[in-house]
Amino acid sequence: MAERKRISILGVTGSIGRNTVSVMESLGVERFETVAVTGNGNIAGLAGAARALGAQVAVTADPSRLADLRAALAGSGIEAAAGGDALTEAASRPADWVMSAIVGAAGLAPTLAAARTGATIALANKECLVAAGSVFLAEIARSGARLLPVDSEHNAIFQCIAAERDCPIERLILTASGGPFRNHTRAQMAAVTVAEAVAHPNWSMGARISIDSASMFNKALEMIEASHLFEVTPDQIEVIVHPQSIIHSMVGFRDGSILAHLGPPDMRVAIGHALTWPERAALPVDRLDFARLGRLDFQEPDEERFPSLALARRAMADGGVAGCVLNGAHEVALDAFIAGQIGFLDMAGLVAQTMDRLDDLPVAHDLEDVFAADAAARRVGRELVGRFAA
Ligand code: NAD
Ligand code: MG
Repeated sequence: MAERKRISILGVTGSIGRNTVSVMESLGVERFETVAVTGNGNIAGLAGAARALGAQVAVTADPSRLADLRAALAGSGIEAAAGGDALTEAASRPADWVMSAIVGAAGLAPTLAAARTGATIALANKECLVAAGSVFLAEIARSGARLLPVDSEHNAIFQCIAAERDCPIERLILTASGGPFRNHTRAQMAAVTVAEAVAHPNWSMGARISIDSASMFNKALEMIEASHLFEVTPDQIEVIVHPQSIIHSMVGFRDGSILAHLGPPDMRVAIGHALTWPERAALPVDRLDFARLGRLDFQEPDEERFPSLALARRAMADGGVAGCVLNGAHEVALDAFIAGQIGFLDMAGLVAQTMDRLDDLPVAHDLEDVFAADAAARRVGRELVGRFAA
């Protein structure tokens, strides 16, 4: 029997984490040796995944939940640990493949710890690239780790350029569903509730990323993510609204050819691709039926109603830590929207004002600089919440 692939999953209890477990189960968990799984507040989910995969260690980021985790793992022989240091320690245990699926900037330190071991990093957490960009990539290059994009758009582009190594890219076309408010007026958008924003028409995802799809902040983060992952300048990155989410993104070349990646809107495709790359394994996902689909639609994104896209362009043009400031301010704005403190459209206003206030921060040379810019963005963002109070 071939050597079993050693796997760790950071953020196993989330939407991407659970889909990763599901892909491993459909391929046969006995093909894998699970090293570490991590979660946060959902102890039952964490312990359940650890047991299902026979993990060596399960870690919750929340130190106050260690006793609960121990109890949930009783009799399994699986090690239990808690807190930030334990998370980083678990992430740095030798593994061949590590899924980075913690949400937000909290994923940065553990993902880097995993990368430093030289493991292949399946990157779902886009904030690593948005917030730490060149610092993150320099660490990856130094460690010799391979980065495989799991975000569906970037995974699609990665697949489109696999056979085009020496052909310069002319344009990247990121598709966006447009979310539940695609046809709302600005006035309607100002009044939407959290529950309405979480209900995504095509993809089943975590609550935060679902709201980000509704505001198109998700696409804004993905534009910045793409600018770091692929050899393109910001003006080569386009966004097109494609409500059916069947084309996951496209790459244009200088001969006018466009290569597109199509598939069902199911994250198991991108996860399975990253898990079995450079091979392809059979996956139990829906097959596209073009006769039934009938048509694919496209629409120009409206930057008046979705100002997040212009903010991404501004962050890419400003360079330096602007992406980090955008990301930190956006996380604060999203928390404030979820808490009912600010309105839906205020999120972009809060991010824009934070970027205005912090447009002279120095370029980041290392992670300390990144964390300092992130902290500054969160501090300014929190100060501004009161000004938008709903
Ligand atoms: P989710 O909210 O469903 O899950 C987040 C995971 O992170 C959970 O396991 C949670 O326990 C863990 N976590 C939360 N806060 C933490 C903290 N402070 N410290 C340590 N762990 C913490 O999120 P998701 O939708 O699975 O998304 C995960 C990442 O993948 C995000 O960066 C998201 O942008 C990206 N992504 C998700 C999808 C999707 O379909 N869900 C698609 C593309 C990219
Ligand atoms: Mg995506």
